[in-house]
Amino acid sequence: MASESSTLNDVERTDKRYVFGTWSYQSEVSPTQVVSGDGARFTTADGEEYLDLSGQLMCSNLGHSADRVADAIAEQASEGAYFAPGYATEARAKLGEKLAEVTPGDLSKTFFSTSGTEAVEAAIKIARFYTGKQKILSRYRSYHGATYGSISVTGDPRRLAAEPGIPGTIKAPDPYAYGSTLEPMESIEYIDEMLELEGDTVAAVLVEPIVGSNGILVPPDEYLPRLKEIAHDHGALLICDEVMAGFGRTGEWFGCDVFDVTPDIMTMAKGLTGAYQPLGATIVTPEIADHFEENMFCHGHTYAGHPVACAAGLAAIETYERENLIERARETGAYLGDRLEELGADHPSVGEVRGIGMFRGIELTKSPTERVPFGHREDKVSKGTTVVDEVAARAADEGVYVANMINTLIIAPPLVLTTEEVDEGVDALDIALEHADGAMED
Ligand code: PMP
Repeated sequence: MASESSTLNDVERTDKRYVFGTWSYQSEVSPTQVVSGDGARFTTADGEEYLDLSGQLMCSNLGHSADRVADAIAEQASEGAYFAPGYATEARAKLGEKLAEVTPGDLSKTFFSTSGTEAVEAAIKIARFYTGKQKILSRYRSYHGATYGSISVTGDPRRLAAEPGIPGTIKAPDPYAYGSTLEPMESIEYIDEMLELEGDTVAAVLVEPIVGSNGILVPPDEYLPRLKEIAHDHGALLICDEVMAGFGRTGEWFGCDVFDVTPDIMTMAKGLTGAYQPLGATIVTPEIADHFEENMFCHGHTYAGHPVACAAGLAAIETYERENLIERARETGAYLGDRLEELGADHPSVGEVRGIGMFRGIELTKSPTERVPFGHREDKVSKGTTVVDEVAARAADEGVYVANMINTLIIAPPLVLTTEEVDEGVDALDIALEHADGAMED
């Protein structure tokens, strides 16, 4: 992909000059123009084709040519692109009904927004209004969004520039068995103690059921049920942030389905439309919904439940169902998991391969015995490239796009990926990982 501004084409140069690059030093931004996508592949302006092993930002769950969704968008836009949230539209009503069907347990009423961060903002407000309490307990290895509330409850270093953030946020340790001194189930008892010590002031415990950008951390089976119990014992709600884990990524509809847990509030975005339109959703139980019958729901956006985005969401869910993409993610995901385990065994720089379904992480290490990360957590807010960035760049040279975060490669491909494409991706990673092997400490 393009790496120096002298090699940028007109579109890339114009983009670099007039558009802020996200989460970056602007001097380091070097955009590559993408012109089209098909299935699990996309093509750049210079004619290079890439296999998309990360579904862009872990959101293109349907791949890059889901025609049913594209058609639904065009149809809704020509019939009536926008009507204010106070009007009912068929797309929004039907999508609300559909979400009540596919989400776990009795979750039933949805607030629509336009992104993951807004879905989390709504969840925080709803939990505070409903419980009358203020604090939100979340975990260090987490990402919940970039707006002020959601970045304040985010635990990873992206929060640091926004600190002190909103009042009333508390961070707890994570179920991270590879690089932490606390065992996952010990970390949860620590949360129990924290909630006790906070007194009756915590509105909600907010977690990604399977941690996404902070390293694809799958907790033990008992973790999420116990977390719900602990939260409820202390009068706090459980909010599951399913923005990344939701919509088939794990081989189940939602990450919390893996553990058979129904949260009180659940947030969704990304796979909700397969990234064909920006749409966020916050769904709650009937008890919480009822509270707002006689208490003002003090929240809303101009584009809450935008008809075109809701039409995309509805068509996306139909696509998951008609093409059996959840089952397919389970099957291809099992094969992907096996292939990545084999890959990890061949590379000393691979500290751990973990994950579930089409949601996998490869954590790199400088030293497997001491589990030293390749690049500390702060490296993502420093200038320059890390070893993990270099590995991703080598994979791109081999025609494979893979996202990375801190010191983990994140494999979250479109659910339409075939087993042949899994092999192709693993072969490219095999070559790319040689770079990390060579950079290990003796
Ligand atoms: N929650 C989680 C778990 C996420 O992974 C993300 C985005 N990576 C967000 C929230 C924020 O979503 P968005 O970028 O759409 O605002």
